[in-house]
Amino acid sequence: MERGEWKKSLRGKPCAACKQQRKKCEEDCVFAPYFPAESQQRFAMLHHVYGTSNVGNILKELDVSQREEAMKTLAYQAEARVRDPVHGCMGFIYNLEEKLEKRKMDVQRAKLELAKYISPEKISELMQNEAQHNQP
Ligand SMILES: [Zn+2]
Repeated sequence: MERGEWKKSLRGKPCAACKQQRKKCEEDCVFAPYFPAESQQRFAMLHHVYGTSNVGNILKELDVSQREEAMKTLAYQAEARVRDPVHGCMGFIYNLEEKLEKRKMDVQRAKLELAKYISPEKISELMQNEAQHNQP
């Protein structure tokens, strides 16, 4: 959506950041394209974790093309920090890494089990195919 379009569609409603700060949402508000009035709850988490002025400074420092992704990332990290104040999004990462390790061990165990039923040549062929498949 173009900057002007959303302004028209939400005329009269301050963005979530301006509402949080209880100030008038100006035409050139840096928050407005990323935090429309409906994103009040999402912005509240960002405000709680990073502070509105820090989020504003980040927005101003970034090129317009990078702002949307940056705000999505910050919102995700803020949500993770609220859910897990100690580890934040690292908690998700540790958890996923743990699951990945467990799955790798499951695959290894399955291969060993499979090796009982098929020839060693076929196993090494399968492993070569997998190695080629896993190359970046
Ligand atoms: Zn605003």
